[in-house]
Amino acid sequence: MVRYVYDFRDGDRGLADLLGGKGANLAEMTRLGLPVPPGFTVTTEACRAFLATGEEPEGMSAEISRHLSALETATGRLLGQPDDPLLLSVRSGARFSMPGMMETVLDIGLNDASVLGLAKVSGSERFAWDSYRRLVQMFGSTVMGVDPALFDEAMTLLKEARKAPDDLHLDASDLAWLVESYKRLIRNETGRDFPQSPAQQLQQAVLAVFRSWNAARARLYRHREHIPDDLGTAVTVQRMVFGNLGPDSGSGVAFTRDPATGRPGLYGDYLPNAQGEDVVAGIRDTMTLAELERLDPRSYQRLHDHARTLERHYRDLCDIEFTIERGTLWMLQTRVGKRTAEAAFAIAAELVGEGLITVDEGLNRVNGEGLARLMFPRFDTDRAGDVLAHGVPASPGAAVGAAVFDSAEAVRRAAAGEQVVLVREETTPDDLPGMVAAQAVLTSRGGKTSHAAVVARGMGRVCVCGAQDLVVNTGARRFTARDGIVVEEGDVISVDGSVGAVYPGKVPLIASATMRYLESGEQADSVVAAVARTLEHADVVRRLEVRANADTPEDAARARRFGAQGIGLCRTEHMFLGERRKLVEEMILARTDAGREQALAALLPLQRQDFAGILEAMDGLPVTIRLLDPPLHEFLPDRVQLAVRIASAEASGGRPDPHDVELLDAVNRMHEENPMLGLRGVRLGLVVPGLVAMQVRAVAEAVVERTRAGGSPRAEIMVPLVGAVEELRLAREEVTRVLAEVSEETGVPVRCPVGTMIELPRAALTAGRIAEEAEFFSFGTNDLTQTTWGFSRDDVEAAFFPAYLDKDVFATSPFETLDREGVGRLVRIAVEEGRAARPGLQTGVCGEHGGDPESIHFFHAVGLDYVSCSPFRVPVARLEAGRAAL
Ligand code: ADP
Ligand code: MG
Ligand code: MG
Repeated sequence: MVRYVYDFRDGDRGLADLLGGKGANLAEMTRLGLPVPPGFTVTTEACRAFLATGEEPEGMSAEISRHLSALETATGRLLGQPDDPLLLSVRSGARFSMPGMMETVLDIGLNDASVLGLAKVSGSERFAWDSYRRLVQMFGSTVMGVDPALFDEAMTLLKEARKAPDDLHLDASDLAWLVESYKRLIRNETGRDFPQSPAQQLQQAVLAVFRSWNAARARLYRHREHIPDDLGTAVTVQRMVFGNLGPDSGSGVAFTRDPATGRPGLYGDYLPNAQGEDVVAGIRDTMTLAELERLDPRSYQRLHDHARTLERHYRDLCDIEFTIERGTLWMLQTRVGKRTAEAAFAIAAELVGEGLITVDEGLNRVNGEGLARLMFPRFDTDRAGDVLAHGVPASPGAAVGAAVFDSAEAVRRAAAGEQVVLVREETTPDDLPGMVAAQAVLTSRGGKTSHAAVVARGMGRVCVCGAQDLVVNTGARRFTARDGIVVEEGDVISVDGSVGAVYPGKVPLIASATMRYLESGEQADSVVAAVARTLEHADVVRRLEVRANADTPEDAARARRFGAQGIGLCRTEHMFLGERRKLVEEMILARTDAGREQALAALLPLQRQDFAGILEAMDGLPVTIRLLDPPLHEFLPDRVQLAVRIASAEASGGRPDPHDVELLDAVNRMHEENPMLGLRGVRLGLVVPGLVAMQVRAVAEAVVERTRAGGSPRAEIMVPLVGAVEELRLAREEVTRVLAEVSEETGVPVRCPVGTMIELPRAALTAGRIAEEAEFFSFGTNDLTQTTWGFSRDDVEAAFFPAYLDKDVFATSPFETLDREGVGRLVRIAVEEGRAARPGLQTGVCGEHGGDPESIHFFHAVGLDYVSCSPFRVPVARLEAGRAAL
């Protein structure tokens, strides 16, 4: 037979699936010998059965009766017995804590008769009526469905009539009057009476707690927290203890350490003459536990000892709910407590220090997201004004600056020493100088993988994108925000990329000590020291190497300080912007081979210089350089702008600039409906003569230059967007030819491994063939996700991802966390078949997923050699790669 009820003495914390967190931990505390009022827990299984059928499962109520009888025998009193009633609490408690989402009813067993008995045995009429009014109120709202606000109103009116500043100033007769008015309220609202039968109260309360699992707010909470809907809640039934018995009683909450900083020592709040729900409800000002120590040193000392017992037993920070009844301490709840990122690192380090947990366990108690949070400066939101707009938190951190509406203005003001926020509808590669100059980037369109978001994260710039509350008017140099508030160019705004919020004016910042450590090695405080030790241990245990995606010597140097073991992706397109754009245009427009060669020849020394700088910053470590990837027309001016320029020149009777006409002609010729599936990647190299040769020559000459300077350059050449081995074979032939040429010319041997990105399903599926020509694979998981799902990553996040997330098609965007089932399967196939064809084939990932904790665990599991991510994610990746290896 299924068992639906467990006495506290029969359970333990291993049974949380069945008893819920609360029930399992009450059982655990009982076993530890802590003072827990006796009781029992009805299982989540009973709840599931009830919710499925609408009927109490067979045998459940008989089991409850049996356990109730045992409780009555043990306490020598019957539930609701008129002269000396046993009273019960009926408490909800799911597997995962859902704070305040479900229901609890206290003081079950009181009625018009037993309230008098309780008054007599306790010697306090006020206490008895206070308990009764609490029961009628909680039962009325939770079980009978009366709007809780109506009870609050009645209470407020009474307090006003009595000129009582708080509930303590209401006396027994006031409270008795309140009970009557509550009962009337219930009758008026529901047409039914508050049940006087204690047995009925208990039965109805249990079922109401079951039902509260499906309350709208509980569902919403689960959806947000990704908690499954089919777990159900347990119900704990427990003898009441009374914090509202007078000034020598009270209720409180405690943490075994400070959950904000992790500092050891009891930490919490206490409310004299109150039941537990009053503490969080904020009906009166609480006192600190230090004050409790003065008020009731014995109870405080017990609480202190029990906290220590719990912390040693759970080997972690615990939070506790307790009640003091006339000088006797009772423990009502405990669990491993939530904490800030700072506290997580500090506590893990201390527990390791105390020998309570191993170094490995310490590493597992923290995570990459927490570390990322510690790296960014933060706003003091207590001192912020009303939010101007909400958007996608695309690149975390907090930044303040004057709003500017184009790249040039951003650069101009930044050069003059001003801090700016670049505000655009969306960004393009043209905005790059402005993004570099700005503290933050704010866009009204696009999602987490939009241009603005990806580039901002790569540079560690704060970014909020897709802020749909904003109407950006670039021409008028202003935007309109919520409530029609207008922000003009030059007005200061504050952008919080961690939560996706924009505030007016300058919100004060709190600087990050962790960042100072990563940049300079300075260990300012114990949290930073804990971070340092954790990262060191992660480096010892991890198998995955961590590289960075970087295209400038500065980024490369920073990545190296952050612990990068090389560059996994050096994009070359950024090297074609700015002043060099003219040369790129000339190359594209060239009508003769000679003209094109001239343009390429002019680009060569510039590229060589770029590569030499990066190879120097990463001396001795591998640098994977990707050949030009984006469609060439991205380097040409905008089609519409050109057309407008020409048309307006003609309209004013003049002749349009012939260069404009030529450009427009080229743009039209090169226009593609689907540029991301068009002439880009290896395809460019195969159809634009001289392009690959120029880039490879620049790499090879940089290697020679660095070698002659005494360095150890380790360049690798990566061919993007290969779908067929033949493409790679052709590209590689040219690469090899140029490398040989340069070796020959200079007398310095240049040996660069040549490999490819795997970013098309076809490449993954034919990885065995491709490995014949590739010395390494690097998974470009952004494009691979895009091409596997058929999602345009530039559009989907605004177009339909919100709906998909809402409908649970996926829990997180596949551009953020790798889709293991689909894209992951391709990765696995490619690794296996690639390595089978070429033993020792080096494999890594260079997409955005390389810095995502969950994805990193997958990459570890499939056996990649490294992950590569933006410099600012390198410490996060080191930490998570360590955790993945445990
Ligand atoms: P939640 O999960 O919302 O915290 P709880 O089941 O913990 O709900 O109950 C709410 C409050 O009721 C707690 O703060 C606790 O102090 C109080 N409470 C619960 N059971 C008892 C009891 N047996 N005796 C006294 N107070 C209780
Ligand atoms: Mg609680
Ligand atoms: Mg790609």
